[in-house]
Amino acid sequence: MKVLVYLEAQGAELKRVSYEMITAARTISNEVVGVIANTDDSAIKTAGEYGLSKVVKLEDPFYTNHSSSALAAGFAQVAEKESCNVAIFPANAAGLEIAPRVSVKCKAGYISDVVALGNDLVAKKPVYAGKSMIQVSIDTDFKVFSLRPNVFTAVKSNATDVALESFAPTLTAKDKSVKVTKLAKNEGKLDVSEADRIVSGGRGLKEAVNFKLIEDLADKLGAAVGASRAIVDAGWRPHNEQVGQTGKTVSPTLYVACAISGAVQHLAGMSSSKVIVAINKDKDAPIFKVADYGIVGDVFEVLPKLTEKLG
Ligand code: FAD
Repeated sequence: MKVLVYLEAQGAELKRVSYEMITAARTISNEVVGVIANTDDSAIKTAGEYGLSKVVKLEDPFYTNHSSSALAAGFAQVAEKESCNVAIFPANAAGLEIAPRVSVKCKAGYISDVVALGNDLVAKKPVYAGKSMIQVSIDTDFKVFSLRPNVFTAVKSNATDVALESFAPTLTAKDKSVKVTKLAKNEGKLDVSEADRIVSGGRGLKEAVNFKLIEDLADKLGAAVGASRAIVDAGWRPHNEQVGQTGKTVSPTLYVACAISGAVQHLAGMSSSKVIVAINKDKDAPIFKVADYGIVGDVFEVLPKLTEKLG
């Protein structure tokens, strides 16, 4: 079985999610090939350390457009050229745009938002807004999966070398139908799903205006801001900051949960964080069961002091 993995770069490095996808692919096959476009070659130099044998770089001036239709066309042509059986994408903004297009082009079955993939290619994924998990498989010859970021841990392999091959796909006018006309930066804000440190706030903050306490601590720590669903449902914060089963799954080095009770749906999105700090005035709050460090106290007293100490 040969697996094709979609790779994304950020500057001169691959995104962490790409290493996660390579590692997941390696658990089902020894033959894993990466596909990348619109990047400089230095970004792939570390891909070999995670077990990729080859990277195919899509070459066409149109790829500077970040066009999902052109990327899907190029990816599908590589899949055919390499006689691949499985394609893996991250279930993030880019992957979720390209994966379904590839599945149509390759007449393949597609399973999105996978959280576990066995080497029998049976996939586990949440359904009904995370209330249940189902196990699904695909019966087409070529199979496409998108895997949830921060669920599959990236692990290095013993290999180091990776071969780089260029490929110029044939792009029709239809393949070039999607064009990105403007790229807007996220006002310098860090994305929770990619952040190494996160400070999250919950309903115990009482009012939207008090979220400033979370932003101040996050600023001091160089962290991204996260929120519980209670806060997002109340309209205090945007959905892209929600951590949990129906929000984003995160896996930072440091996760600070402030006035968050630790409902099972919140834990589902953050319990794999390396170090968890919880601040809650209720000593029996479930968040303390997963916390490495717990502060039993009032966030309105603890947060200003903590932020000041970090000076
Ligand atoms: P609460 O549970 O109300 O907790 C507030 C906490 O603040 C309490 O522990 C309290 O002791 C503490 N507190 C109060 N005042 C202070 C103070 N002054 N100082 C310190 N501590 C204080 N939730 C998510 O977060 N993410 C999800 O993705 C998600 N998905 C869901 C999916 C489904 C299908 C369902 C049914 C629910 C989902 N939920 C999700 C909701 C989840 O069940 C909880 O309702 C939610 O996480 C509660 O948010 P909270 O901890 O902010 O609020």
